[in-house]
Amino acid sequence: MDFKNSEKLYKKGQKHLVGAVNSPVRAFASVGGNPLFIKKAKGTKITDVDGNDYIDLVLSYGPMILGHRHKKVEKAIKKALKNGYTFGASTKNEIKLAKIVCDAFPGMDKVRFVNSGTEAVLSALRLARAYTGNDKIIKFSGCYHGHSDALLVAAGSGLATLSLPGSKGVPEGAVKNTLIANYNDLESVKAHFEKHDDIAGVIIEPIAGNMGVVLPQGNFLKDLKTYLETKNALLIVDEVMTGFRSKFGGAQELLGVEADITCLGKVIGGGFPVGAYGARNEIMEMVSPLGAMYQAGTLSGNPIAMAAGIATLTELKKQNPYQKFDEVAARLEQVLKEKANKHGVDIVVNRFGSMINPFFTKGVVTNFEEAQQSDTKKFATFFWALVKNGIFLPPSQFEAWFLSSALSEKDLQKTEKAIDLAMEAVVNKSN
Ligand SMILES: *Cc1c(COP(=O)(O)O)cnc(C)c1O
Repeated sequence: MDFKNSEKLYKKGQKHLVGAVNSPVRAFASVGGNPLFIKKAKGTKITDVDGNDYIDLVLSYGPMILGHRHKKVEKAIKKALKNGYTFGASTKNEIKLAKIVCDAFPGMDKVRFVNSGTEAVLSALRLARAYTGNDKIIKFSGCYHGHSDALLVAAGSGLATLSLPGSKGVPEGAVKNTLIANYNDLESVKAHFEKHDDIAGVIIEPIAGNMGVVLPQGNFLKDLKTYLETKNALLIVDEVMTGFRSKFGGAQELLGVEADITCLGKVIGGGFPVGAYGARNEIMEMVSPLGAMYQAGTLSGNPIAMAAGIATLTELKKQNPYQKFDEVAARLEQVLKEKANKHGVDIVVNRFGSMINPFFTKGVVTNFEEAQQSDTKKFATFFWALVKNGIFLPPSQFEAWFLSSALSEKDLQKTEKAIDLAMEAVVNKSN
């Protein structure tokens, strides 16, 4: 396997693109080497510009849940294209997708479509503030909610309790209303409420996927919701990653908790740029044009994206692959552990539905601090060995691997074999 054409494009791309990428997660910074350039994808396979085929466990970081270019989605997109691309006025399909989405989430009467997860979340925060009249928001260390100023707060363990910007260019003023708590630690939330009486709400990934997969322990989410009710603060559940991926609907139903505001993205656009936020009527009626919270978008509810979203969710509902996801993930977990054991490598495997990943560490991973104990050098070796054996996975220890409903027995066998070889490579490299 060689990567000559990717290397050439990487060199060329650096002239007019920042680091030759349009999102830093694509840059391979934490695994070394050059990023791959992709030419095409179909079903479970993705092909780079050197003609190398991989089984795709990135799935564009989640959206391609049916696999690439599902024929029903493609048909819907082609049909929509014939009618025009964008109108700056409402269309019937926006109503249709809104109904599918609201029906899937118990606490959602109305939804507003936007163009990305970032936009969904920053609008949801504005809405929580508009509704409660309070300014402060609590977020959890290690949870990612897009790149808006207020949420780019240092989430490293050392700074976990300080509200310091995690990026240059974010003014301290922009994060002064963001408080940090520890995932799976209700006491750390309560401590903030004891100090502040102007907290609008708490935002959380119901199953964290942006520090690797980290599950809420026990009744953490339910207890959090019950507690917030006593404080008149809102629970904002960021299901940009988990929405329609953990279950049709999202993680909320599965975990027995109802959000006050839900954020969506990724899967609901079927591969096109769509985000959404939704809530019960009394909250959504704050949003312009019904209410005084302003939020707008030139391309929001884009017809092509709506068509792709409707087709994806309709097919997903029909396939109902959630049981299969669980079985496939259980099998991958077992294989990862078995092969790690065989080669004497310490790993922890966390999974939920169609999200799974191994951490190169011992013990348990229930929060960001524990996730950070992972040996990222071992992960880098493991990553490249998988790539060279035909598996495309996110180039970071702290990203979930995603499963699509298109995965076949043959794909799984190939993945299992590659995992065996990659664990062997990890041992050889560390000796
Ligand atoms: C991906 C993601 C976002 C940001 O979505 P973008 O479409 O990349 O802006 C926000 N929250 C979570 C939980 C995500 O996984």
